[in-house]
Parts: sequence; C-alpha cells; structure tokens
Amino acid sequence: MSELAYPYEAPASQALFDRAAAVTPGGVNSPVRAFRAVGGTPRFMVSGTGPYLTDADGREYVDLVCSWGPMILGHSHPEVIAAVQDAVARGTSFGTPGEGEVALAEEMVARVAPLEQVRLVSSGTEATMSAIRLARGFTRRTKVIKFAGCYHGHVDSLLAAAGSGVATFALPDTPGVTGAQAGDTVVLPYNDLDAVREAFRAHPGEIACLITEASPGNMGVVPPAAGFNQGLKDLCAENGALYISDEVMTGFRTSRAGWFGVDGVVPDLMTFGKVMGGGFPAAAFGGRADVMAHLAPAGPVYQAGTLSGNPVATAAGLAQLRLLDDAAYAKVDAVSKQIQGLVTDALTKEGVAHTLQNASNMFSVFFTDRPVRNYEDAKAQESFRFTAFFHSLLADGVYLPPSSFESWFVSTAHDERAVQRIAEALPAAARAAAEATA
Ligand SMILES: *Cc1c(COP(=O)(O)O)cnc(C)c1O
Repeated sequence: MSELAYPYEAPASQALFDRAAAVTPGGVNSPVRAFRAVGGTPRFMVSGTGPYLTDADGREYVDLVCSWGPMILGHSHPEVIAAVQDAVARGTSFGTPGEGEVALAEEMVARVAPLEQVRLVSSGTEATMSAIRLARGFTRRTKVIKFAGCYHGHVDSLLAAAGSGVATFALPDTPGVTGAQAGDTVVLPYNDLDAVREAFRAHPGEIACLITEASPGNMGVVPPAAGFNQGLKDLCAENGALYISDEVMTGFRTSRAGWFGVDGVVPDLMTFGKVMGGGFPAAAFGGRADVMAHLAPAGPVYQAGTLSGNPVATAAGLAQLRLLDDAAYAKVDAVSKQIQGLVTDALTKEGVAHTLQNASNMFSVFFTDRPVRNYEDAKAQESFRFTAFFHSLLADGVYLPPSSFESWFVSTAHDERAVQRIAEALPAAARAAAEATA
C-alpha cells in the first residue's frame, strides 16, 4: 500500500524496521508482528506501563494486545517487577533444580484440579509438542486429531491446513514440514462432534490424542458450543485416546483455573504458557499423574530444557499468579465487558455488520453478521473493514491485534481513563470500517 493509505507517520519505528529487515527475515521475530495482514509500519515499542505502550516515536497507545495475553496485570506491575529484580539479584540460571519452579508448579496444581503433575518448559510450542510426544508414548499410537483454525504453536505435526471432509489427512501448511509429519494429523472442522466421531470410526485404535484449544482464540474468539468439549472428552475416553486441552491462551486468563474453571471438562493433559510466565518465557504441560509418570526421568518418554524452570521466569509467573485472585478476574471481566459494549455500540451506530464474540474476558470482532462457529465462518468475514478499523484506532492511540483472526486482551490496569480513550477513538474507526471497500 502507498504511504498515503496511512495518514500519520512513525519514522522512528520505520527506521528500526528497516534496520531489522537487514538482519532478521521480514524484520520481526514472530510473523504477526510485521503487520502484513493490515499493512503499514509495525510499531517498535520501547516501554509499557499499566494499560499503555509507548513506541519509538514517543506515541502512547492503549494496549489491547497485552503481549497476546500474558500481561493480565498490565505492563510493569510493581510487584511483578520487584519479584523479578529480587530473583535477578540472586543469579539468572543455575541448570539445577530450584525452589521457584516448585512453588510455581504448586500454585498451578492448586488452581487447576485436573493438573496433578506439571513439567515446566519455555514456550507454548514446547508444551504442546511435548504433550503430543507423551500422548503418543503413553498410548503407543501415532495419529493426532486437531481442529482447523486452532493454533498450538509451530509444532511440525500441528502446522497442518484444514482438510475438507471427515477423514482428510492434512497437507503440510508450510514448506519444511514433511508429508510424514503432517500425515499423522487429522484436521477437522471446529464445533463438529460428528466429524470427530467419524474420524475415530475411520481410524480405529490409531488415534493417540485429540488436541484442542480449550476455547479457541487463534481464529478470533470462537468458543466451544455447549457440550462440545465434554463430547470430545467422551469420544476420546471411549476410544482410548488422550484429550489434550491447550490452555496456553486461556490458562489463568479466562478464570483463576483458566477455561477448565469455566466449563469443568476434565482433560487428560493440559498445556499452559502466556499468563503463567508473567511476561517471561515460561510454559508447562501436565495432567494425569499416571500419564505424566511416563516422562523422563520417571519414565521412558524423553523431554528436557536447558532453561526450563528458569528462576527469573518462574519468579515473574508466580508473582503474577499470586496477584490473580477473584477480585482481579472480576476486574478484567468487567472492563472487557465495558469495552465490548463500546465496540458493539460504535459499529451498530455506523451500520457495520459485525459479530462480537467472547470467552469470558477474551473477545474479538468479526466483520460479518453471522455467528462464527469455525474457521470457515471466520474466513468469510470482511477483513478489509478490520484493516480500516485497525488503522483508525492506531492513529488515535489504540493498539489492536494487527489481524482480524486474533483475540483482544485487557488487564486489571485498564482503568476509566484507558476506557475513555478507547471510547473517544471508536466512532471514527467505526466510520472508517463502514466506508472501507474491498
Ligand atoms: C500462543 C499459543 C501457543 C504457542 O505458544 P508460544 O509460547 O508462542 O510457543 C500454543 N497454543 C495456543 C492456544 C496459543 O495461544
């Protein structure tokens, strides 16, 4: 797009982006940050406080990304920062066990009933990759069921595109993933229990596990239909497969026990990341003790990590979780509701077809008037309206996820002033969305 498409400039960010592109593919270390879906200059952030981010040009934004979920207490929360400083002062990595990782695991196990044992890792990708290896090792089966539109990190076998039809084996979604890696993955449409039933029928005794986002947020927010997760659990149990609930996004965000705390469906294994790291690389997988007992060194399934259970990361995560009491979730839920209402009102006033969906405090807007139940529905939205909406808000100091297939996130730090700034920016953004053309 031409520069004229964006009626404002970010010269310092652009200069950094140019420098970055010389030494890093596409100028970013995670693709969505490059703004490819919306165009324009990605903002290089230099600091964050509470609900605000400040970019390299000195402009301040109300942050509705919250580092894709982790910053549920806002940026630079004083107690989290203090815990980190305290940990750093004692050394940054020992390569030995330490008390911090025990305390974090205890806090997680205390909050999430099905979590009997956990293993700490450094990213959500590692968590899902390891959970699948464990499920395969435990069941001595090879195939994995996943849903189109669910993202579980960049695990080779899970980077598989949507297949159409029930027994469709996935084709790799990206060069570098072999047919063999993707060929053991069965990709099914979300919220379709019949498709899952049919897949189990088509592959008797072959399915090691089914992995699903506890409540999907990676195709925009598409919650499970009533009874869907329980249906998945039951089908897995009937067929001797493990049910893996990926709570990397929802864990410790959608309630103090994550999505499990909302729907109560008991998984065999669960994965975590994002909020539990307090803004540091900490993640985990865990669940049934008899399954986790198969993990090295207790059992034969190998899994390891040089920085797993890092003392600084676990200190940050533990400090954050300890601050996340019922009052904190009530606050996040309330401000989320308030912002959802403002967005709905602004778009309705301009006559923009839209569907706002939420999973407790996670929410997103689809530019379509139809409910979005799966990835096909999500792709049917008018994304060009999101682009106009996004850039109008960005120009007015509100930072949305730079894609219409992402959840928006808020924090306990989003106060009246932050909400007011969003409210002031929304009418022009809704108008831009209304006037946008494909
Ligand atoms: C973010 C995410 C992951 C991947 O986590 P990383 O830390 O980015 O590797 C996996 N699953 C879900 C549901 C996620 O939202």
